[in-house]
Amino acid sequence: MNTSKKISVGILGATGSVGQKFIQLIDNHPFFETVEVMASDRSAGKTYKDVVNWFLPTPIPNSVADLIIDRCIPNNKVRFVFSGLDSGVAGEIETEYAKAGYTVVSNAKNHRFDEDVPLLIPEVNSDHLDLVTSQQYNGGMIITNPNCSTIGLTLSLKPLEDAFGIDEVNVVTMQAVSGAGFPGVSSLSIIDNIVPYISGEEEKIESEPLKILGTLENNSVKLKNFKMSAQCNRVSVIDGHLESVQVRLKEKTTKEKIIEAWRNFKGEPQSLNLPTAPEKPIYYFDEPDYPQPRLHRTIENGMAVSVGRLKECPIFDYKFVVLSHNTMRGAAGGALLCAELLIKKGLFPQNG
Ligand code: NAP
Repeated sequence: MNTSKKISVGILGATGSVGQKFIQLIDNHPFFETVEVMASDRSAGKTYKDVVNWFLPTPIPNSVADLIIDRCIPNNKVRFVFSGLDSGVAGEIETEYAKAGYTVVSNAKNHRFDEDVPLLIPEVNSDHLDLVTSQQYNGGMIITNPNCSTIGLTLSLKPLEDAFGIDEVNVVTMQAVSGAGFPGVSSLSIIDNIVPYISGEEEKIESEPLKILGTLENNSVKLKNFKMSAQCNRVSVIDGHLESVQVRLKEKTTKEKIIEAWRNFKGEPQSLNLPTAPEKPIYYFDEPDYPQPRLHRTIENGMAVSVGRLKECPIFDYKFVVLSHNTMRGAAGGALLCAELLIKKGLFPQNG
């Protein structure tokens, strides 16, 4: 792998909430530089800084501010794109880019269950990346990042599945407003309120962990078959999804052994020293009232998940709480980590 020369990338959906986060994270990234920004016909042809409703606390990088926004049509300016496209249009556009020979790393739901597309959390299932070798995209490929609540939940489940086996999981989420994009949920809907419904979210959380924790056999993923149940709520928090989890395990164990499994957990991003990888993917807190979104969402730059409140459960075996940053680990940061893994494993041909 040669990362001395940065890879020029484009951002599909560059004006959106996830697109902005990509631009912020890629500024000064050792592997990538943003040279193209794409969005809808409403924004195309205009200067990025004039169109974007930039709401991140750091300024728009100078190298991007004056770029003219392109339409989402492959034009060969780059060969690698990150996608923060609205899922209403992402499926078709991402397919077009892959068919045109591009590598597409996507946050949208559309391709997550394509048989040959990895649904990747690099610490959990880095081996699934090999699926890209069977994709028939004329040199291009698609890799997907899971749903934002799925990522925190599955990172917390992986050490339990490895050490004790999982039988059943029940989860209730309390999800931040930034998960709905910008402008998202109206203030009159969410202030002094909780909305006990997020369209399509429960179905994603009940299905995606089974693919991510599945095993790679003959170049396809054999899904895990434990039962999952999810209920999702939108709460008045800006960033950070908190999830209350109950789990039934195959093998009986102790609280101490579960905490040890979480605290010792590491994956390939840590051994490869990937730039966006947290040193420790999971932080366990002993304090009875931790983790909390405002206090813990930015641990390790928002790439680590926080776990706490582990207790025996009278119905399941154990219950606990997990917190993860939805636009960092749950979206742009997680996708960037997938892309770093792809590059480090030499799966993106850089001399073409
Ligand atoms: P968003 O703020 O609404 O941004 C959507 C982007 O898509 C904008 O750049 C928009 O461009 C572009 N777009 C919309 N319609 C288009 C069209 N017809 N053609 C081309 N581009 C079009 O959404 P977001 O929150 O960033 O989410 C982006 C994706 O990531 C979604 O699929 C979402 O489910 C997923 N995701 C979001 C989060 C999160 O925490 N927010 C987490 C994980 C995954 P214009 O500005 O020109 O309209």
